Amino acid sequence: MSHDYMKQTTFESPSDVVHWLQSEAAGLWPALLGSLSFRRSPCVRENCPACKSGEQHPSYVLYGRVKGHRVAVYVPEELVPEVRRSLDNGRALQELLQQAAPRYVKALKRERTKAPKSKKG
Ligand SMILES: [Zn+2]
Repeated sequence: MSHDYMKQTTFESPSDVVHWLQSEAAGLWPALLGSLSFRRSPCVRENCPACKSGEQHPSYVLYGRVKGHRVAVYVPEELVPEVRRSLDNGRALQELLQQAAPRYVKALKRERTKAPKSKKG
């Protein structure tokens, strides 16, 4: 076990973990979960050159979930970069929460060990 490992995980209290989590998460807003898909679809205009050429019309759709139901929201092209960034933030936040779980539980256990009156197993 290296010194860095000891320093980072052994002496961390639950509130240290909370502060770490809050400061890491602070830069991750807005954070969204969902999937952005690109598709091409035909329009209703007659003799549309884009449709005739097979190019059709590109559009982006965000798929999300609301109370278990899949929802689709059209995303205008100029908003795509912002939506992408927010989805990246969402994944980063999810990753962060995964990392936080073992650190927080370990910190809680250390605190319990330190507490003089608690002898619960
Ligand atoms: Zn068209």
